[in-house]
Amino acid sequence: MNAVTGFGRIAPLAPSRVESFIAEHEFAHPTLVIDVDAVERQFHALSAGLGHAHIHYAVKANPHPAIIERLVGLGSGFDAASRGEIELVLSQGAHADHVSFGNTIKKAADIRFAHQAGVTLFAADAEEELAKIADNAPGARVYIRVIVDNSEADWPLSRKFGCASDKVLDLLGRARDLGLVPHGLSFHVGSQTREARMWTGTLDQVAAIWHRAQGAGFDLQLLNIGGGFPAFYGEAIEHPTAYAAAVIDLISARFGEVPQIMAEPGRGLVAEAGAIAAEVVLVSRKSDADLHRWVYLDIGRFSGLAETEGEAIRYQIATPRDGDETGACVLAGPSCDSADVLYEKRPIHLPVTLAAGDRIVIRNCGAYTSTYSSVCFNGFPPLDVIAI
Ligand SMILES: *Cc1c(COP(=O)(O)O)cnc(C)c1O
Repeated sequence: MNAVTGFGRIAPLAPSRVESFIAEHEFAHPTLVIDVDAVERQFHALSAGLGHAHIHYAVKANPHPAIIERLVGLGSGFDAASRGEIELVLSQGAHADHVSFGNTIKKAADIRFAHQAGVTLFAADAEEELAKIADNAPGARVYIRVIVDNSEADWPLSRKFGCASDKVLDLLGRARDLGLVPHGLSFHVGSQTREARMWTGTLDQVAAIWHRAQGAGFDLQLLNIGGGFPAFYGEAIEHPTAYAAAVIDLISARFGEVPQIMAEPGRGLVAEAGAIAAEVVLVSRKSDADLHRWVYLDIGRFSGLAETEGEAIRYQIATPRDGDETGACVLAGPSCDSADVLYEKRPIHLPVTLAAGDRIVIRNCGAYTSTYSSVCFNGFPPLDVIAI
């Protein structure tokens, strides 16, 4: 793929403030530094493309209170997955009517809590879930999550969430019978869907259901398009405004006029605003004949880099020796677990001069790092987070 023509951006949005901060400070442990102003710029960039669609930030991508507080100030809504996330966004000043309880797997007590806190919008993909919502949040608005086939995303969300197309109308009807408001549909195209055109198949599938539901007399108001908005991890991506606008065009062509569109970016809003300061702990060869060096970092699969699972997300790494000759390395974390290998099938190229004690920067990793970090596996502390 040509990294320049056809794509608006080949460099990360604005990591410089974060990387300057990292260069000027010492860190005892791996530390995620997140630039809240960069989150705000990205919010505006996405909003500009999304038109009348409203952003509901997917809190799980990075729940740092400074991010939530800034987004509240910008008028963002929030997609919360748990009681804890609802409490967090409310404590930062979000209005309950800007919060959706978007997890399709909720405890009855948590639904009741959300209802009492004023949340009126809930996701569901099963009869039993609708019954729980009707019992604990009577009269609530619900949207039915649809399983998406054939995701082209780098981090697909599998079949865990959503129901098959042939169940959607039954569930909308069940919601109505239970005294709930069958408000709309939701889906998730898969996280890190690098190109807007990759939404086409998913939108075709969901639009067919949407029109069938309208035909069956359901006055659907809400289309929740989930996340999927990409971050720059080394492969060219479209400018966020152009990407969002292209998705909205694809939606308009298939759905026509939709009263309310909700987008739930997580990664696309916060990933590029953060970088992790980390350190090389050991560089070794398993034998003198080994072609690859092994490079062990003080951060790994269990301390924030969970999305290296299956080598799906390939982070960009900056070292103080960039510019020196490079060679292939297997990259691994520090824990005593053999799954804690980040990149081996596709080795990563790093300077041949890299040595223990070198400080490195892992770029564009403001999303899904602090939340995936284990608490004290092997005695390694969880990822520190500093908002600047
Ligand atoms: C995780 C999640 C998102 C965010 O997805 P990204 O690809 O990070 O933007 C949005 N909606 C729901 C329901 C999610 O579970």
